[in-house]
Amino acid sequence: METKFDIIVIGGGHAGCEAAAAAAKLGSRTLLISMNLETLAKMSCNPAMGGVAKGQIVREIDALGGLSGQVTDSATIQFRMLNTKKGPAMWSPRAQCDRFQFSANYRKRLEELEHLHFFQDMATTITKKKQFHIGTQMGYTFYSSSVVLTSGTFLNGSIHIGKDQYGGGRMSERPSIGITESLHRLGFSSARMKTGTPPRILSSTIDFSQTDIQHGDKNPKSFSFQRQKRLSVQRPCYITYTNNESHNVIRENLEKSAIFNGNIEGIGPRYCPSIEDKVNRFADKDRHQMFIEPEGWNTNEVYINGFSSSLPKETQQEALLKIPAFRKAQILRPGYAIEYDYFPPTQLKHNLETKLVEGLFFAGQINGTTGYEEAAAQGLMAGVNAHHKIRQSESLILGRDQAYIGVLIDDLITKGTDEPYRMFTSRAEYRLHLRQDNADERLMPVGYDLGLITQSAFQQMANDQSTVTKTIQYFSSHHIKPSEMQKIEPIDKLATPKHALSFSKLLSRPQVHIQDLFNVEREEFPFSNLDASILQKVETQIKYQGYLRREAETVDKFIQFKELNIPQNIDYKSFMSISTEGKQKLSDIQPKTFGEAQKISGVSQSDLSTLLIYLGR
Ligand SMILES: Cc1cc2nc3c(=O)[nH]c(=O)nc-3n(C[C@H](O)[C@H](O)[C@H](O)COP(=O)(O)OP(=O)(O)OC[C@H]3O[C@@H](n4cnc5c(N)ncnc54)[C@H](O)[C@@H]3O)c2cc1C
Repeated sequence: METKFDIIVIGGGHAGCEAAAAAAKLGSRTLLISMNLETLAKMSCNPAMGGVAKGQIVREIDALGGLSGQVTDSATIQFRMLNTKKGPAMWSPRAQCDRFQFSANYRKRLEELEHLHFFQDMATTITKKKQFHIGTQMGYTFYSSSVVLTSGTFLNGSIHIGKDQYGGGRMSERPSIGITESLHRLGFSSARMKTGTPPRILSSTIDFSQTDIQHGDKNPKSFSFQRQKRLSVQRPCYITYTNNESHNVIRENLEKSAIFNGNIEGIGPRYCPSIEDKVNRFADKDRHQMFIEPEGWNTNEVYINGFSSSLPKETQQEALLKIPAFRKAQILRPGYAIEYDYFPPTQLKHNLETKLVEGLFFAGQINGTTGYEEAAAQGLMAGVNAHHKIRQSESLILGRDQAYIGVLIDDLITKGTDEPYRMFTSRAEYRLHLRQDNADERLMPVGYDLGLITQSAFQQMANDQSTVTKTIQYFSSHHIKPSEMQKIEPIDKLATPKHALSFSKLLSRPQVHIQDLFNVEREEFPFSNLDASILQKVETQIKYQGYLRREAETVDKFIQFKELNIPQNIDYKSFMSISTEGKQKLSDIQPKTFGEAQKISGVSQSDLSTLLIYLGR
């Protein structure tokens, strides 16, 4: 058996698969060691990719040449663009996926890569002499110049359901034993985090007449910029609610939950609380929303999003039975919580290489993040940088103004995190610029230079971009008379301008959309046949011009006022427009300067803007 490789990736989750694919595509002989090759890129929790800020990350991964977007498209059962009632900067793609297809399609793509090798085993030791030595449970040793560790929720993983507790990296999978201790010997420090998942139910036992149906978009988009085929059939999701009766069951059994009985010490994801946590913390609420999400095309199993729990199975069942849609619900798999080791990410450099051991990279949940998208993004970056390391070329580091991926890694490295970190648009100071629609413009040139994006994909993007630029130029230099404006429906309802205006001036009005302009007859008007995605880009860029300037000014202010003193008696809890997490962190830490406030993990860019206004700037 071959034992010598350029790069070894430990762990075949979302981070590991992206890392292995990137390193192998770039030409490094790469070995992916994972505990179970049947669970590559398994969706441990809900089978969905994207969502607010996360959808932008997946599009960025795709633009850089990663696989997550393409695999998502190949396994999508429902697509929705979220937040379309808000401005385009907030639009976020989300896809419900077939859990089984996602894993299988990912594996197929990985197996097609010439330089990628696989081995099913548990890595138990990492040592470094001239090279890295990776020891495994089956007694093998593998050697490489660089290692990417992506162990997810598996390091000393401990599963909790009620008072029951047993070792596991995920339900029905063993924990990873040995790596934490091996890393401690190298001088790293670790801590514990926890996360949880809801029960899965047999859909034929649900009364769907007691739910609201939620269809996918009429014109579903895709994640990958290179996808041609559109989804023609979709599966719906459903919405229902908990009620007081189910809350009573949960309240009466609170002390049986692993979160409340003291069995769990790790900190869980603030934005994904368990149902018992919600019932306890928001005692005045008489219902909580739940989404019933299908797990695939060919399965009867559904995921109960919003009902994550580590209560005993019987209590989960009893609480569900109180809800009209679930009066006869049959649980296939109970919800559970899991605790695991993570390594505080301040031990890393911006290229995701550890500060202590050269050539060793960490990516994914091991760095204190939560979510497939966050993990995949780090995996891609770590895979690229491990390859660059052994070729002694410059690391790929994305700026905060370039990508959510840049924000994610910079936040982790400079601020650290003591609770599971997930991406939000509010974490990015350039969020109007970091949109899902322009991820290709922002990052395809980078992916192309790396060698992960093909010439034809890059050329297509460049052609589209040139069309967008020409269209914007046309709209800026051509004017429309007040008489013609009558044909533009929204203008008709608003006050009609008295003078001729450029098309772009009109389009910058929130009520006017690009299709409205096509009612104005112009012989030379060459744009109405353009692809919808190009027209959308034109409209977005024109509408955002002014806002983007202001966004840049705000960022300048953040830099300018770093030394600004903050009074010590501020009652942060009284601020309406600071997030709950921001209030808590600012109150606890009481930063002395604005620069110190900027370094606190969980204090978002919008919290900082509010604080700056309060400070009179
Ligand atoms: C119960 C549960 C609930 C979750 N809930 C949410 C949620 O609500 N929202 C959310 O965004 N995310 C949630 N997640 C997190 C999400 O699954 C992860 O963020 C994401 O999968 C992390 O990707 P990863 O690649 O870092 O690790 P994982 O996907 O966990 O993959 C790790 C891989 O490494 C392998 N491995 C581990 N150790 C070794 C070793 N020593 N040797 C060889 N192979 C090894 C494992 O077999 C596995 O394949 C949840 C996860 C779990 C388990």
